[in-house]
Amino acid sequence: MLERGGKNVLSLHSFELRYMAKVYFHDLREKEVNLRAIDGLMSTLPHVGGMVAVKIHFGEHGNTRAVKPAFVKRIIDRLKEQNAYPFLTDTATLYTGRRTNALNHRETALEHGFSHVSMGCPVIIADGLKGEDYIKVSIDGEIFKRVKIASSIFHSDSLVSISHFKGHSLTGFGGCVKNLGMGCAPPAGKEEMHSVLHPEPSEGCTGRGDCLESCRFGALSIVDERLKLDLTRCTGCGGCIGSCPDSNLTLVGDLKEFQKRMAEYALGAVEGKMAIHLNFLMDITRLCDCVPYTQPLIAKDIGILASTDPIALDKASLDLFEEGMGASSERLSIPKYSSITARR
Ligand code: SF4
Repeated sequence: MLERGGKNVLSLHSFELRYMAKVYFHDLREKEVNLRAIDGLMSTLPHVGGMVAVKIHFGEHGNTRAVKPAFVKRIIDRLKEQNAYPFLTDTATLYTGRRTNALNHRETALEHGFSHVSMGCPVIIADGLKGEDYIKVSIDGEIFKRVKIASSIFHSDSLVSISHFKGHSLTGFGGCVKNLGMGCAPPAGKEEMHSVLHPEPSEGCTGRGDCLESCRFGALSIVDERLKLDLTRCTGCGGCIGSCPDSNLTLVGDLKEFQKRMAEYALGAVEGKMAIHLNFLMDITRLCDCVPYTQPLIAKDIGILASTDPIALDKASLDLFEEGMGASSERLSIPKYSSITARR
């Protein structure tokens, strides 16, 4: 339940919310955004030090809804004032797109305003040139005892996650846990999470084969004018889903298992690290920042939240969204999100 502490901790428009951990909320529902909101939120959080991996999503090529560079730069500036050495980072995608290796990923970041010059800190793709640099991190999960975390994130001293709150076709919504779990994993880790899913053509599929090129794993073929899936090759990445001009492909499988796997990966990303987290409930769209186009907005801007606890932060974000949208939280995306189950 969303419960305000009733105390203005930063300014007239910022509150402390009561959850298992403190969540700080800068309310933008009745107010225009001001970059000073970032200063206030950062002042509530513990200082992080050393080499700080600032994990963001630069946005897929053509998608301009990710967190805006001006906010990210302000966070970087505050970290540098604390004598930290921040670098901006993300990992290679599993699906075919413009972020499958460090070169095209950095070009995409540059197109969206993120460079060493504009941000005042390096942009480092955390899993190396081809998404193959990672460390196996031990965790005590129900599914995984070891997860694969991108090496530059693993080797950083501290972690700051900056997440865009929006809908997601597999997790219902995407926030901090998704940014940590999926976002800090190299393609080999993403495959471990996605492997419980696969595409399925609907009755309307005519076997035209427009989707074949979208699969870099060679899992799709046309046999006797029917689409055939090679499950031994399919990674469940979902890259083919948007390629059907008639929307005849759906990703199916055990979504709850997928979500649990992602939550355990999130645990691996923060293992042994000082970490702080910010969620931006702005430019809220139905689907995630991986789709290669700019989607219409489905809600008014809500605000910016900050916490040291990813679970409390995502729960508060979801509660605020639902409070504003009433019963229409279904608008976030296709599956009903299941409860967030990562262990602290
Ligand atoms: S067939 Fe499987 S591996 Fe290929 S794009 Fe679709 S989901 Fe990904």
